Amino acid sequence: MGIKKKYSKPFGDLNSLKTSFFNNNDGMLDMADGMADVLLMQPKRTRCKICGAKLSKPLYHSHRIGYIECTECGHLNSECEDTDDFASKVYVEDDYSKNYSAADKENYIRRRDMIYIPKAEYLRDCLKHEGLQAEDVNILDIGAGCGYFVSAVRQLGMMATGIDVSDSEVKFGNAMTDEPCLTHVGLTDSIGYIEKSSANVLTAIGVLEHLVHLDENIDAIRNNANIKYVFASVPMFSFSSCFEVAFANGYNRHTGGTHTHLFTNESVAKMAERMGFEIAYEWRFGSDINDLYRFLMVSMQKNNNEEFSRYFSDRFVPLMDELQQVLDKSDFSSELHFILKRK
Ligand SMILES: [Zn+2]
Repeated sequence: MGIKKKYSKPFGDLNSLKTSFFNNNDGMLDMADGMADVLLMQPKRTRCKICGAKLSKPLYHSHRIGYIECTECGHLNSECEDTDDFASKVYVEDDYSKNYSAADKENYIRRRDMIYIPKAEYLRDCLKHEGLQAEDVNILDIGAGCGYFVSAVRQLGMMATGIDVSDSEVKFGNAMTDEPCLTHVGLTDSIGYIEKSSANVLTAIGVLEHLVHLDENIDAIRNNANIKYVFASVPMFSFSSCFEVAFANGYNRHTGGTHTHLFTNESVAKMAERMGFEIAYEWRFGSDINDLYRFLMVSMQKNNNEEFSRYFSDRFVPLMDELQQVLDKSDFSSELHFILKRK
């Protein structure tokens, strides 16, 4: 069976153009620069994060960091290694207040419905195509965070539990739902959790790229025959990466900060192979155009063309969905959701 492909989604909520990294470019850039300082203190990366092939010279530099394209699988590796030390310094726990309000719960549900229900529906529909009904699905969500995705799949009638290394996010997520189903795990415990899980579907939304011990996680998935499907989303080497190279004063949300490596079509396939899986479904929608728009706006405002930036914005924003679709269809856009199937 070939890979079933789906492209793009409407950008939708224009309010997402007003997020903090849009309005607070310099503050976010400072934060990413601080993370780059930490990364540059780590040992040089000598082998590809995905296939282990020996790495050579950087293809390019962005925001002081060199990025090396793996000659075997195309995976984009930063020149320095993500280590436990790096992780302990850059993943700072968000501060969740102890007294959760009704407004928190409303915002939680709104965010879940807007961002995570479409992903959950996609998973449900693909699994249905595989002959699995919602009630047959039992999900282990790794890196579950506040449990938005777990809550979304449960809303659609699938069984799901989640694990995360952040105690405060787990507590917050469990307080937001009627049936607490998130468990806090230590950094090294998650491997054992995956190995012993009775789940038939493992999900990892925006998680794999953050795992320092990705190799061990891949092995754990391979070794647990209960797991028949893996649903994940990962950041891709893409036009967003290129735009970041061109705009050195723009906040590099994609190739920088906690992202020390980016996937390619070939490296996703390589990772699937290492798990003993194959790619069955792909849904490709990036935010490359959103990044480009942000960089252009920030640059115009920095050179005292604030008013003109609005003139530009009025004309550009209505085109963004369509422009992004073109980039998505080129298979070189910033985010990929995929479902792997055990061979
Ligand atoms: Zn490689």
